Amino acid sequence: MVTMHRRPRRLIILGATGSIGRSTADLVAGNPDFEVEAVVGGSDAVALASMARRLKARHAAISDETALGALREGLAGSGISCAAGEAGVVEAAQRPCDMVIAAIVGIAGLKPTFAALQQGRTIALANKECMVSAGEAFMAQAAAQGVPLLPMDSEHNAIFQALNGRDASDVEQMVLTASGGPFLNWSAAAIDEADVAAALAHPNWSMGRKITIDSAGLMNKGLELIEAQALFRINPEKLDVVVHPQSVVHGMVSFSDGSVVAGLSVPDMRTPIAHCLGYPERLTTSCKRLDLAALGGLTFARPDHGRFPALQLAMDVMKTGQGLPTVLNAANELAVAAFLDCRIKFGDIARLVANACEAALRHGEAKTPQTLAEALAVDHVARERFATP
Ligand code: NAD
Ligand code: MG
Repeated sequence: MVTMHRRPRRLIILGATGSIGRSTADLVAGNPDFEVEAVVGGSDAVALASMARRLKARHAAISDETALGALREGLAGSGISCAAGEAGVVEAAQRPCDMVIAAIVGIAGLKPTFAALQQGRTIALANKECMVSAGEAFMAQAAAQGVPLLPMDSEHNAIFQALNGRDASDVEQMVLTASGGPFLNWSAAAIDEADVAAALAHPNWSMGRKITIDSAGLMNKGLELIEAQALFRINPEKLDVVVHPQSVVHGMVSFSDGSVVAGLSVPDMRTPIAHCLGYPERLTTSCKRLDLAALGGLTFARPDHGRFPALQLAMDVMKTGQGLPTVLNAANELAVAAFLDCRIKFGDIARLVANACEAALRHGEAKTPQTLAEALAVDHVARERFATP
């Protein structure tokens, strides 16, 4: 499948049992160009043990300490070592390797990803919460180590490829596309009352539950704008979103001479994952190829901020900066969890996140967190203060 003539690239996969983790495994399993040092997961010991065996990993670490026995049982006779708890997860992330796939969901991804970065590892970054909550800390650490943060999020991956190693100084505009999600043509009242099943029914992408809910309200696109601002060091005024229901164009960069370079592919995360796995070379994959003539047409529209208030909220937060992106992320994680538990309505997500941002402004949390510890402290306060109705 792949033709890279050098020693295998050694990987650590954080979030190996999730949607990104499994897509990564599809590209790596049985592929002699890769070997897997460690796999890391949250609480599903059976799935993690089976992934460790499938990838012939040397080590497996699980966050939930109570799952260690089950993990050990699942790995019995395999020769794969294991560990549990936050310390076990961080230790696994620091093992020797060539590249760390950062695909844990949410704030739990920050410490292990940062620990890997401190070891000077190249990071293939799926976890957008790292850049939203602690963008300054991650960018400073990557610069200090002289290692790249390779964006795996499809929009950022497209933009990264469009920039082709140049910085953003002669960029006039950066556009992220949004599919519009399952509520693209729903009324504001229907979106407000939407149930969990409807919000999880994404038309184009199959992803973990948290990001799928984020996508339904366009909060995901808001998080991605903040991620893009942090990653590409671009003025927020130059960032924009276009609704593109086919999810074929993922991101576009307009340059000062009027040229526009866009990144296209079928909506399958294995394509941006493969780009990161092979970087700076190209892997050969069996991913479905784009056939524009078969598609017939691509459409684009402006987002409707009236029906999708989370996007405007995130844009305002991005422009304000300071500690607000960290607060937005923390409140959003708690609100999405409450929605998934059927404790709040879909429309409450954006309202509660807005309240949390206003409360943070009232309390004068004006400083941009510069270090991981500062970001986690702002995150902690925002979570303590968060209140559901
Ligand atoms: P997912 O819910 O399918 O998987 C999350 C993974 O994280 C699982 O392996 C889970 O076991 C692990 N995990 C959870 N809590 C943990 C903890 N405390 N310690 C260690 N591991 C823990 O999520 P996903 O859809 O794969 O998304 C992962 C990340 O990638 C998210 O930040 C998401 O925004 C980003 N992302 C995903 C996609 C996608 O298509 N799925 C696209 C772009 C970006
Ligand atoms: Mg994306």
